Amino acid sequence: MIKVAPYAAQAAQALRRYPEAKAQGRSEFQRDRDRIIHSTAFRRLEYKTQVFVNHEGDLFRTRLTHSLEVAQIGRSIARQLNLDEDLTEAITLAHDLGHTPFGHAGQDALNACMKPYGGFEHNLQSLRVVDTLEARYGGFDGLNLTFETREGILKHCSRRNALQLGEIGERFLKKHQPSMEAQLANLADEVAYNNHDVDDGLRSGLITIEELCSIPIFSRHRDLALQEYPDLPQRRLVHETVRRMIGSLVKDLTVQSAAKIAEMGPRSVAEVRSLPPIIAFSPQMKKEQAQLKGFLQTHLYQHYRVARMSSKARRIVTALFNAFAAEPKLLPPDFQLRAREDKPRAIADYIAGMTDRYAMLEHRRLFAVETV
Ligand code: MG
Repeated sequence: MIKVAPYAAQAAQALRRYPEAKAQGRSEFQRDRDRIIHSTAFRRLEYKTQVFVNHEGDLFRTRLTHSLEVAQIGRSIARQLNLDEDLTEAITLAHDLGHTPFGHAGQDALNACMKPYGGFEHNLQSLRVVDTLEARYGGFDGLNLTFETREGILKHCSRRNALQLGEIGERFLKKHQPSMEAQLANLADEVAYNNHDVDDGLRSGLITIEELCSIPIFSRHRDLALQEYPDLPQRRLVHETVRRMIGSLVKDLTVQSAAKIAEMGPRSVAEVRSLPPIIAFSPQMKKEQAQLKGFLQTHLYQHYRVARMSSKARRIVTALFNAFAAEPKLLPPDFQLRAREDKPRAIADYIAGMTDRYAMLEHRRLFAVETV
């Protein structure tokens, strides 16, 4: 087994919610990763939106390809810092499992529908997927993952929710950090989506290279790419720029975090949890990332064509929720059964599990006058 640093999460000590015999030939975190890859929720990520709805084109990122990119970035940094690469991979592959169809628009609509019943939050839902909703094993509901993977999946949590979550919620009450693998997974997510949204945004034509050149991190790396290849066609130039941006962010994160590890000197994951965050960008890079994020916010996520899709998504999710709430007998039998205990939560679970196209189909089935 690969040796990790003493400050890394330790697979040999990892505990599951329901005790099981140790895995043979793989570590407990590898086993978590394998369970995630084989889950139904993981396969559904292929047809869930990040920014562009799945039918808008075959070349845009989906939540599945996004998760794979996050895993790639997370793993390469984890290896350099002697963290547990398998745990990083497990967390990154699972981090978006609880997302609704249609990205943030879907989540906002479901959250609004669920307001009187405790709300809906995709992070919490990801944990709910791996803890209860996956129905695959004889001995337990969910995937029975280790504490470390579950703690990494739950990135943020309100105080109210933390109070109901037992040991997994404790860190939010104590204001403690999670393992460095979890801290890393969170930032790898940011690196991945900022960069692939630039790529997808340009590909879709909703943003232009000229507009992006007002953002220092983009223009600097574009200049570097042009210095090396002055006559590069546009698509290759975009790729050469984006790969340089990712490279510089990964390097910055690795160097900064290594310096912080040396400075703070954590000797165990328990010490990591009580220290301030260790995995971090340099202040300069943090600023540049924020500029890029701000640009994407105003130019891409709020673009009128994205806004139209988001508005449609909100209407679909809200209409589905209201139809099921008024007539629970429209739900599939297993969700009807669960609706007897907690109707709003069963409906939210059903809708959150849908892919973009399934939600659209279900909407047509319920509302279209002609038969589908
Ligand atoms: Mg993500």
